[in-house]
Amino acid sequence: MPMVTLTRLMMVAVLALLARPAVAQSALAGTPVTTCVAPVQRGDMAATMMRRRDRFDCATPQSRFRPGDYWVRVASVPPGAGIVPQVIRSWSLWQRGMTLYFGYADGVIVRRVIDDVGAARSIALGAVFEQPIPVRGVRLTRIMWQVRGAVVVRGIIAEPRIGTPAQSAERNLLFAALYAGFGGLCLALLVYNLSLWAALRHRFQLAYCGMVAALATYAFSSSGAMAWLWPTLGNVMRIRVNYAALGLAAVMALRFARQFFEPRVFDRATARAAAGVIWYLVVSTGAFVLLAPWQARALDLAYSLGFLALTTVAALILARAWRERSNYLWVFGVAWATPLLLAAIRTMSSLQLITASTWLDNSTLAAMTVEALVSSVAISYRIRLLSVERDAARAEELAARTLADTDPLTDLLNRRSFLRDALEAGARAPQLLVIADIDHFKQVNDALGHDLGDEVLRRVARALRAAMPRDALVARIGGEEFAVLAPADTDGLPDAVLAAVRSARMPYDLTVTVSVGSSTGTLSGESDWAALYRMADQALFAAKAAGRDRARVASLALAA
Ligand code: GH3
Ligand code: MG
Ligand code: MG
Repeated sequence: MPMVTLTRLMMVAVLALLARPAVAQSALAGTPVTTCVAPVQRGDMAATMMRRRDRFDCATPQSRFRPGDYWVRVASVPPGAGIVPQVIRSWSLWQRGMTLYFGYADGVIVRRVIDDVGAARSIALGAVFEQPIPVRGVRLTRIMWQVRGAVVVRGIIAEPRIGTPAQSAERNLLFAALYAGFGGLCLALLVYNLSLWAALRHRFQLAYCGMVAALATYAFSSSGAMAWLWPTLGNVMRIRVNYAALGLAAVMALRFARQFFEPRVFDRATARAAAGVIWYLVVSTGAFVLLAPWQARALDLAYSLGFLALTTVAALILARAWRERSNYLWVFGVAWATPLLLAAIRTMSSLQLITASTWLDNSTLAAMTVEALVSSVAISYRIRLLSVERDAARAEELAARTLADTDPLTDLLNRRSFLRDALEAGARAPQLLVIADIDHFKQVNDALGHDLGDEVLRRVARALRAAMPRDALVARIGGEEFAVLAPADTDGLPDAVLAAVRSARMPYDLTVTVSVGSSTGTLSGESDWAALYRMADQALFAAKAAGRDRARVASLALAA
């Protein structure tokens, strides 16, 4: 059943992805514009480049170009630009800086120089690079960028769109809601799981908190909030933090899986694979974050492969969990289906097997929301199973203890537990000890057999238990010898014992009687117990000697 659910979920996700173009249209503001690219050559002038159509390559995808400096030109500027207020938006990418040129129909060129800090200041919600188009009342004919130090991991100027300020505001509002929701969710999950961890101390809770914190950092940097808060750090630093946070989230997610499942799920090979992927993720993330822009493309590829490895090892873990009949497979499967699928798709997009899209980048957020939420449910489910196990263990322990305290034949207290409880009662008040020994029991055994002898013992026990006060301790302390302990001021207990046994129905209507000896005293330790018992036993002996079926109270003379 869980596998069916999982498969269904994945199919839904695949279908959602196939419907991607429609989603992309609604999620992104503005009209897409196509671009042409030309590598910067010595002595190139912007004014000249605006007219040199022959230098530009409009066919090769941007991501095929090598790192360097480029001219990027908008192939055809949509009508209205330069006359009504408009903004140009593109995906924020890693570069040293850029100059944006706006060429108008009257020959005027407006230039805007943007360095790394300037880029950080231009980040709109959702890590979108946004610039207003200067309104001069004259038609805008050309838009061109000069990009310096483009690392070209995904492109040079990615997916530029021209839209109205209202469209931009609407999109920013949408993303503000999305990121605020995600940020609030992360904060709540973090606080709630950290306080749970403080109480329960399961290691997987910490890994989970680490993952949520990394995801919150990822959202913080990818939303652009970080660039607003600390614009002087620059856009490149924002991208580094973004890579680091996502890498860390992946590491924590894997650690979480490692500690969340029952240990049996991780056989040697799986444990090694998981550890290997964790190390690979740490090293490849660290390498990109510390070394880029040096070899940025290769390092980005290595980084993306880490996510492919993560997806693979996650599938391996799920398969192992399936084989080992893990209790947690289904919740884990549901929690991870969406992000796993997206990790795979993102990797494919990074490897350029499918085209990248802003939607795909932001869908991480949705996937992580599902993941973080369902994982939280998974954690409570796991804790529930653990407490069920613990309750069962407690019940078993209680049963075992009760068994050890009870005489198996009669279910009365045995000698050991009687002594323990008697000392506990004796610590509070003086006690009356009554011991009763069945008369001529050997004859009962001889006449009826040992099994019926046992039945007589059971019936005597039942009669005693029924006749004694509720708070009295009743025990079988020897073969056919019973004991009762009650507070010293209890009246008529020895006679009650005699009467109870006399009136108990016995097999073959046999008449069974007991002789009773009793004594009263303080009981504050084992030596008191020995004295009290000795006195009662001597009284019992006196009762036997006086003809049986009677009670005797220990006198001071007997005690001496
Ligand atoms: P008295 O009136 O002097 O107490 O005589 P008695 O026969 O009861 O005394 P004695 O102590 O000689 O015999 C006790 C008998 O109780 C001996 C033993 O076989 C029997 N007995 C002890 N434990 C059990 C038991 O668990 N089941 C049965 N059926 N008999 C037991
Ligand atoms: Mg006896
Ligand atoms: Mg006896």
